[in-house]
Amino acid sequence: MNHWANQLSSQIPGVVWPALTPARIAPLVALLNQFEQTERLPVAALQARQFRQLVTVAKHAARHSTFFRDRLATAGLTASELADPEGLQRLPVLTRRDIQGAGEQLYCARLPAGHGPTGTTSTSGSSGEPVVVQRTSINQLMWRAITIREHLWHQRDFTGRLAIIRANVEPGAPKNRRNWGPPVSEIFPSGTSHLLSINTDIAAQAQWLQQINPHYLLTYPTNLAALLDEMSENTLSLPALRQIRTIGETLTTAIRERVAQQLGIDVVDAYSSQEVGGIALQCPHSGLYHIMSESLRVEVLDEQGNACAPGETGRVVITDLLNFATPLIRYDIGDYAQAGPLDRPCGRTLPTLNHIVGRQRNMLRHPNGNRYWPLVGFDRYRDIAPIRQYQLIQKTLTRVEVRLVCDAPLTPVQEQQLGKVIVESLGYAFELNFNYFERALPRSAGGKFEEFVCEVR
Ligand SMILES: [Zn+2]
Repeated sequence: MNHWANQLSSQIPGVVWPALTPARIAPLVALLNQFEQTERLPVAALQARQFRQLVTVAKHAARHSTFFRDRLATAGLTASELADPEGLQRLPVLTRRDIQGAGEQLYCARLPAGHGPTGTTSTSGSSGEPVVVQRTSINQLMWRAITIREHLWHQRDFTGRLAIIRANVEPGAPKNRRNWGPPVSEIFPSGTSHLLSINTDIAAQAQWLQQINPHYLLTYPTNLAALLDEMSENTLSLPALRQIRTIGETLTTAIRERVAQQLGIDVVDAYSSQEVGGIALQCPHSGLYHIMSESLRVEVLDEQGNACAPGETGRVVITDLLNFATPLIRYDIGDYAQAGPLDRPCGRTLPTLNHIVGRQRNMLRHPNGNRYWPLVGFDRYRDIAPIRQYQLIQKTLTRVEVRLVCDAPLTPVQEQQLGKVIVESLGYAFELNFNYFERALPRSAGGKFEEFVCEVR
């Protein structure tokens, strides 16, 4: 494989080789170069660098964020004491609630030189109350570098056609671009890309994809599943497609397997969030999710707050090492993941997650107080009735709303049969309310769709 540096586009008039990029792009190229070294550092060396960076950002935050200064004081700590895993663990985690409560006090009053300008990003939690985070130009730069790193790991052919079906695309006409768009187009020559809004009807999406005949497709897992249904029902194929990339929601093994069976290609998933950017990328060798340690530190914690061993599932707690505007230090992001092993065969020493399990709000709350990941039993639904889409919403400790999109309304007998399957799968005799929807079930403003949502606080 041709090294990526040989694919850079030269953007200085008159120079075709070696490629020269303008000054504003130089930091991006420099980071990509460094990543090749940093992702293979000895584990101890990588950790030492992370903690040196962490103390630097913590000292800045202690000086300029009232909230963080109080948080440290309450824990009886100084910024310098966060210099190793044991010290960091003494700082209680920061919840979404804490961030909402902190208001303006959370943000740093000043930024070091070169970090500005800041941008504001807001994400809604299960309660619909947004968490508002300020991010700097350094955070943005890191996200761009991580996005390109993901392409390079998977050796994508930038000359291919890229189809994107996601949220935040203007409704109406599909957009066609003459390149893949930033950050790829900032440094590499690339083929065309084509954007469609996630709110487009599935049949229309499939038709659009036939016309584009893309080499790569980027979309959300639940949308991909609906596309697979549509394609198999209408015996549609995408002959040029080489790989599918998913973002935004939890990618299940079931969807991966369906893609392999039906299309004979791989799905590559990326784990990111608006608050902290790229969190972990799938390894091209092992499929494990490597944590982006140059940008953040990830802890997976059990119910007692101790680090999970590989194979154990726990809460994802993130420390952003580079955000000097909003100190996100030990931030409980609301996700659950399974800790992974050191990926020896691939040689990358970046720590791993086996997989992302889901968001806390996707856990069922049993009337006995326990929370667990619900089985919804969907594979059995279709034996009962022609159900196209479903969503279960736990409204109270004992009541669940069942939202359905069906080809024909269910008969009372079918409703009863379906209710039996759902109750068995959930493991408790919930009272069920059936609600029917004409077309696709609504997605969140960010385009995400969740099969199970718990609204019980
Ligand atoms: Zn690996």
